[in-house]
Amino acid sequence: MSNMNKAVVIGAGIAGLITARMLSEYYQEVYIVERDELPTAPANRQGTPQSFHPHRVLPRGHMILERYFPGYTNDLLDHGAQASYAEETKLVNRFGTFVSRPPFLSASSSRALLEWVLRRRVQNIQHVHFLTNTEVTGLISSEDRQTITGIYTKKRNEKKQEGMLTADMVIDTAGRSSKVIKWLTSLGHTVPDPEVLKVSLGYSTQYYKIPPQAREQWRSVISEAQPAKGISTGMLLRIENNIALTLLFSAGGEHYPPTKPDEFQAELKYLNASEIAKTVSHLEPLQGPRGYRTPESVRQHFEKMETWPSGLLVLGDAFCNFDPIYGQGMTVAAIEAETVGNCLEEQKRNPQPYFERHVLHQMQEAIDPAWWLSSIADLRWKGVEHVGPPLKGITFVQKYIDLFTKKAMELAANGNSRFYLTQTLMTSLVLPPSKFFNAEILTMILDDNGSPEEKKLRAELGVQDPKLFQQRIDELIPSFDAAFDERLKDFLMSLKQQ
Ligand SMILES: Cc1cc2nc3c(=O)[nH]c(=O)nc-3n(C[C@H](O)[C@H](O)[C@H](O)COP(=O)(O)OP(=O)(O)OC[C@H]3O[C@@H](n4cnc5c(N)ncnc54)[C@H](O)[C@@H]3O)c2cc1C
Repeated sequence: MSNMNKAVVIGAGIAGLITARMLSEYYQEVYIVERDELPTAPANRQGTPQSFHPHRVLPRGHMILERYFPGYTNDLLDHGAQASYAEETKLVNRFGTFVSRPPFLSASSSRALLEWVLRRRVQNIQHVHFLTNTEVTGLISSEDRQTITGIYTKKRNEKKQEGMLTADMVIDTAGRSSKVIKWLTSLGHTVPDPEVLKVSLGYSTQYYKIPPQAREQWRSVISEAQPAKGISTGMLLRIENNIALTLLFSAGGEHYPPTKPDEFQAELKYLNASEIAKTVSHLEPLQGPRGYRTPESVRQHFEKMETWPSGLLVLGDAFCNFDPIYGQGMTVAAIEAETVGNCLEEQKRNPQPYFERHVLHQMQEAIDPAWWLSSIADLRWKGVEHVGPPLKGITFVQKYIDLFTKKAMELAANGNSRFYLTQTLMTSLVLPPSKFFNAEILTMILDDNGSPEEKKLRAELGVQDPKLFQQRIDELIPSFDAAFDERLKDFLMSLKQQ
């Protein structure tokens, strides 16, 4: 850390852009090396095939993006993004229906517009340089292979010129197609098996134009899945320029959402929310349906390696990728970049050896709740399997959420959505799970009405005396409190004041 001259970021996806912006506060020069030619206007590109599909920013990600890119939400709105806080969202699940509005300023856009808005901000930082059309092909290391000192590159043109770029820090944000494991292995490091969620998930997305007469009364719809019955998740969202996106999702590999228009339309009718099929029948179909499938979500555990070279970090999808249906990927990338920033700040004040290993540990702690929550949700689908250190509390948590959701939906339908908001803030990674799974809430949801959901939860709990509830919850569920910091309290206060 003595020399903070030059940092290199591999990949100009969402993780790469946030990382480059964060690094610009600490390094004299930051290079962001991207294999694609980057479009000058919002457009999908080859290197990020997921961009076709809806990309939502969770409230925690929104907070971090506003920290590094103040006013980015207004930039999005200025470029036609939908002011989603100004429109209703209807949530439908097996317990009922309720309609709400996001309690803070937010904008719904395509991934291409979000990336373009953030990229323009980074391109305007004088000491951040973009090398596009340039593929990173390897890591340069010191002779003892314990320090990464740069990258090898190859131009993606006919001449395919090869090059080198030295750096004091290289951060790989190359996404799911990252080659970092291969590069580390070729340098003689032994990389442990990652934690894997064998999820076999499928997406299918269709675009529509919303005609003028449908724009005023428009509302988004989220139709939650019912994995036990094989019912898919469905979403109907509006993005910039009055484009609507419909998404179908399922996991487990038994069924993948169709990509033929008539089959896609037919499956919409089986969702918990029949409104989606009805609404889209009045819209003008544009592109799609287009599918996306992936067999697994992968969480690397580099912190467990015996040797980790200094001068190298990995974050974003290359470090840990998620089932996208919970909208966590970009938010987790933001959390990781912020974690690196906090560690650089600490390091500046109080330099310590093994900086990179410390960062890897901190990032693991920071992403733990996201991995746990989405894995537990996916394990409801038949055929999904978790490979790695056992996840704690799976069946208790699934039953707790069922009972909670039932109660929260009843209350929300009667005008009290505060209870439901607690759950939303947890799944948005703003509230730690301990604010949701605790004796106080458990006592509220176990009200002796003898429903099947209540009996199942009591059986999992195994204690009757409410005085023992907290102790039992602490045994069943890990504490994730270290993943949340004080700044989140300010965000919560701002919600309470609204
Ligand atoms: C279908 C789908 C829907 C999703 N929906 C959401 C959502 O709603 N909300 C959400 O938060 N997240 C969502 N995600 C996840 C989200 O796309 C990622 O988590 C997020 O973009 C962070 O990714 P990244 O920057 O690490 O990788 P990417 O965005 O994939 O970017 C990687 C970049 O690295 C470049 N690259 C790769 N290899 C090299 C190389 N060797 N040299 C140079 N450049 C290289 C690529 O061209 C690319 O630009 C979704 C994902 C999928 C698959």
